[in-house]
Amino acid sequence: MDEIVNELVSLNIGKVKKNEPLANHTTMKIGGPADLFIEPSSVENLKTALSVIEKHGLNWRAIGRGSNLLVSDKGIEGAVIKLSSGMDHLEVNDTSITVGGGHSLVSLSTLISKKGLAGLEFASGIPGSVGGAVYMNAGAHGSDISKILTKAHILFEDGTIEWLSNQEMEFSYRTSVLQKTRPGIVVEAVFDLVKGDRTAIVAQMQKNKDYRKETQPWNFPCAGSIFRNPLPNYAGKLIETAGLKGFSIGGAKISEMHGNFIVNAGNAKAEDVLALIQHVKETIFRLYEVEMETEVEIIGKK
Ligand code: FAD
Repeated sequence: MDEIVNELVSLNIGKVKKNEPLANHTTMKIGGPADLFIEPSSVENLKTALSVIEKHGLNWRAIGRGSNLLVSDKGIEGAVIKLSSGMDHLEVNDTSITVGGGHSLVSLSTLISKKGLAGLEFASGIPGSVGGAVYMNAGAHGSDISKILTKAHILFEDGTIEWLSNQEMEFSYRTSVLQKTRPGIVVEAVFDLVKGDRTAIVAQMQKNKDYRKETQPWNFPCAGSIFRNPLPNYAGKLIETAGLKGFSIGGAKISEMHGNFIVNAGNAKAEDVLALIQHVKETIFRLYEVEMETEVEIIGKK
């Protein structure tokens, strides 16, 4: 590992660390160390870093804000590449915006609303990166990324970089082609918005934020919805009806405010969260014969 670290440092590609705890990079504040942790300072440097990682045959994974991740207490083997401030360029061209994969979705929606552009109001409370949101087809309040994305610029593991159209992204509920057949890193995205009334857009965003504050545990570390909605049922409703709100294992607790949120109520370990997820799955299946599938991604060493 030292050899790879030295090579990356000499290439001056951005931040490079060994054994970096992922608890510092996830909204749950949980997760052991990544063998190698990289925050590239530009798209070019990301490409260089990826080629070094591939040359050395290391496993790797891109992350954004870690807001949909449950990382093992034992950490992650190989490299974690975090897209952040080095990759958060933003260009506004009339109603079309081009934005880096490392840009925060929350700050993007705030910035854009102030320009009187509508379409991103749904994203005002989703604490992910643009790249993570495209990968997940993140959504809320009846909209999602698929409704505004024109194209996404994807870096593939062989080093090629290609624009994929909205159709080629194969979006559906909380998924995209990147999760299925074409794994790659979203380095930038182009969104097509519409001109609107600035005051009305800002007001709608505030309404969305207020709704979240009333219904979600915003003051505890968490990873948003833990389970996908097993439609036509809603995960939160099933968990609430089963009487599981407030149930805890170790430091992990099912939120009293929202049944589909597990919060880190204090020094929770990934193993506490995993045990709680298992308990919910078994209880819901026993009571309602409904299979619960996680929306949060569980990654790292077993
Ligand atoms: P990460 O958690 O870092 O990664 C998630 C996945 O995306 C991983 O597989 C990772 O490899 C991949 N990924 C990350 N960046 C890239 C990239 N640049 N290129 C390719 N793959 C990448 N989600 C919703 O959809 N709607 C909501 O309303 C919502 N509310 C939330 C509320 C709270 C309080 C929290 C904590 C989370 C919420 N989420 C919600 C979940 C989460 O914010 C979204 O899934 C978000 O899109 C994840 O983005 P991220 O950058 O944090 O991704």
